[in-house]
Amino acid sequence: MAETGRRRISILGSTGSIGVNTLDVVNQLGGREAFDVVAVTGNANVALLAEQARTSGAKLAATADEKCYAALKEALAGTDIEVAAGREALIEAASRDADVVMAAIVGTAGLAPTLAAAKRGADIALANKECLVSAGELFVKAVAEGGGRLIPVDSEHSAIFQCLEDNQHHAVERIVLTASGGPFRTWSREQMAGVTADVARAHPNWSMGLKISIGSASMFNKALEMIEAKHLFNVAPEQIEVIVHPQSVIHSMVGYRDGSVLAQLGCPDMRTAIGYALSYPERPQLNVERLDFAKLARLDFEAPDEVRFPALRLARTALERGGVQGAVMNAAEEISFHAFCEGRIGFLQMADIAEQVMDDMVGYGAAASMDDAFAADAEARRRAGELIAQKEMAA
Ligand code: NDP
Repeated sequence: MAETGRRRISILGSTGSIGVNTLDVVNQLGGREAFDVVAVTGNANVALLAEQARTSGAKLAATADEKCYAALKEALAGTDIEVAAGREALIEAASRDADVVMAAIVGTAGLAPTLAAAKRGADIALANKECLVSAGELFVKAVAEGGGRLIPVDSEHSAIFQCLEDNQHHAVERIVLTASGGPFRTWSREQMAGVTADVARAHPNWSMGLKISIGSASMFNKALEMIEAKHLFNVAPEQIEVIVHPQSVIHSMVGYRDGSVLAQLGCPDMRTAIGYALSYPERPQLNVERLDFAKLARLDFEAPDEVRFPALRLARTALERGGVQGAVMNAAEEISFHAFCEGRIGFLQMADIAEQVMDDMVGYGAAASMDDAFAADAEARRRAGELIAQKEMAA
């Protein structure tokens, strides 16, 4: 905590969906009277990054894209806000002396900066699930060694975090991740085969960034969350269940050995999980919609279909195989996601490519260091790229 009594916060990925909601929560919790914003970071959206830096009073604004440096510098001319660009600049931003760092960069690009923040000992409010999927054991160890706390922001994991009772880990039987089922919950594989990214990104309940929206449609997001859950809560793969719950009101649950199930409920609004992570262990006053149970009337559940949504099966395979399979699945999915958005492959081919790359790299052992994890990630990307090119040629 700063001498001023204000909490020092850095927001990595401030221009994204989670980043924008985080700044809203920071304002709701008292703005500059309660927080010193140490750094905000973005990538391409220079105008928003500059505006956020000005209005939040951030000391540093950093863009990952070196080509954006001049534009950011110009947009912040006349202020004393420091400007930086490039991958190293993001690591530097993450390493500044914040008490809490919101990790909300999308994809594996978030790993190195978040790791730097963890090593320095900041509390990590973790939205970027890729940190845990790509390098779970190493990341958790880095946080522990740094001495900060790891507080989940993903709504499902925040729910589980809230439902886990102190000193009762031994009594946990299962954790149940809820999934909305996305826009294609009731669609056949034939219907899904021809969809475009514009159709796939339309989530029924949540307003989110592009990657996670498409990941919700393919259920790859849930697949990543299964692996994220394993590392966050130190449970065995067979203790992780997924249940489709179309209303997204129950954000997830914990089942105990006495048959009790604890659930966390709320309207689908990420600000609740963000506020909890920034105020933990306090519950902050937040201006978000309240659940109206009479209006809600019912909650529905159905078993997930791993034939129409093979990503769930792939996550289970990755968990069973261990080693770098999580990193491989994540990297192959990230490359396939970009190819799908560019119209180079079909929606269903994303899972085909991830599965093929996972099978091809099954012999890779556990990552002993971050370099190993990055190497597996790079190799999976290379192989996924080759498969995509082959599919394009065959089409
Ligand atoms: P968005 O796509 O909305 O935002 C991503 C952020 O990352 C932006 O600030 C973007 O900058 C920045 N960024 C993009 N590419 C790079 C890069 N190569 N290097 C550094 N920064 C980059 O994503 P979301 O906010 O939806 O998601 C962020 C993370 O949070 C993801 O890991 C997601 O899975 C997770 N999450 C999101 C939820 C949600 O409701 N959105 C819910 C739970 C988890 P710019 O915009 O300037 O290009």
